[in-house]
Amino acid sequence: MAKRDYYEVLGVSKSASADEIKKAYRKLAIQYHPDKNPDNPEAEEKFKEAAEAYEVLSNPDKKARYDQFGHQGLGGNGGYGGAGMNMEDIFSQFGDIFGGGGFGSFFGGGGGRRTKKGTNLRVKLKLNLQEIANGVEKKIKVKRHVVAPGVSFKSCSTCQGTGQIKKVVNTMLGQMVSASTCAVCGGSGQIVDKKPAEADSRGLIIKEEVITINIPGGVADGMQLSMSGKGNEIPGGIPGDLLIVIEEAEENVFQREGNNVIYDLYVSFIQAALGDSVEVPTIDGKVKIKIDPGTQSGKMLRLKGKGIKDINGYSRGDQLIMVNVWTPTQLSREERIALEGMKDSENFKPNPGRQEKTFFDKMKEFF
Ligand SMILES: [Zn+2]
Repeated sequence: MAKRDYYEVLGVSKSASADEIKKAYRKLAIQYHPDKNPDNPEAEEKFKEAAEAYEVLSNPDKKARYDQFGHQGLGGNGGYGGAGMNMEDIFSQFGDIFGGGGFGSFFGGGGGRRTKKGTNLRVKLKLNLQEIANGVEKKIKVKRHVVAPGVSFKSCSTCQGTGQIKKVVNTMLGQMVSASTCAVCGGSGQIVDKKPAEADSRGLIIKEEVITINIPGGVADGMQLSMSGKGNEIPGGIPGDLLIVIEEAEENVFQREGNNVIYDLYVSFIQAALGDSVEVPTIDGKVKIKIDPGTQSGKMLRLKGKGIKDINGYSRGDQLIMVNVWTPTQLSREERIALEGMKDSENFKPNPGRQEKTFFDKMKEFF
């Protein structure tokens, strides 16, 4: 694959100043930062590509060679034969680009090591269909590890604050440098200097917090929402995330089908024959609907927009009402006589015509 032009990668013109180049890189590095794009190889590639472009364009000597000879001009000395930069290089060389800009925490602010991230917290949240349909604000209690007030840290002397122990190992292939996480500071590069008695050895306490979450309408069972930075804190790092796993509460009034809700309505044989006005529950409260005279069992009625909000848009599903005609299971003597009197009437003989759609036709029409 042809290498992209470094100016194009950073989105700057050839006449851009050093400051403009730095700003352009900073923007891309924040956008594609691996902490913000976990397990996203595409973002990682972009992150590396931007770093490589910046590495050249921020160096007057390399920039001059690149301007004159393009990628070829960098081939001999410190160039990139296609291997690109690895993450360690990027963090150690350019970590300070974020310093003082409010993003120092991404890199620990300490000059280049990759920031540790606290562990994620996961909570289950049970919602009823009404809450799911419209979205809801919920307050939940979580117990998180937070850095105790009054804790101070000092640079870890074991790893000199780098968070890593580098060892030169002799192997059959020659000497190799292996890096491992510092066991003393756990990779953060910092150890506790002073701490209050209730804090643990990492300077952390467990704090119960009430967190307000806005659940968007249209979530579904098993869906996971993430609140970044609301997980466990870690000294010298960024906090983990709070993951909220949605559970749909058992529902016995409605059934959910995508963004539609289905309601089973039972009417008597007499209501179906004579027609009636009946009250049905919806997610937003009760509404009155009309049953036409001569309504057949299995008829579907639709209440437009009474379903669940689409999670990706502004539209709403519908409420579908399935009309079931209830056949009496016991009759008094008088009722039996009355019905027997009508038994031979032509009007009571089933006579399904063409307009009587089958169950499957109806399902096709409605979903
Ligand atoms: Zn250490």
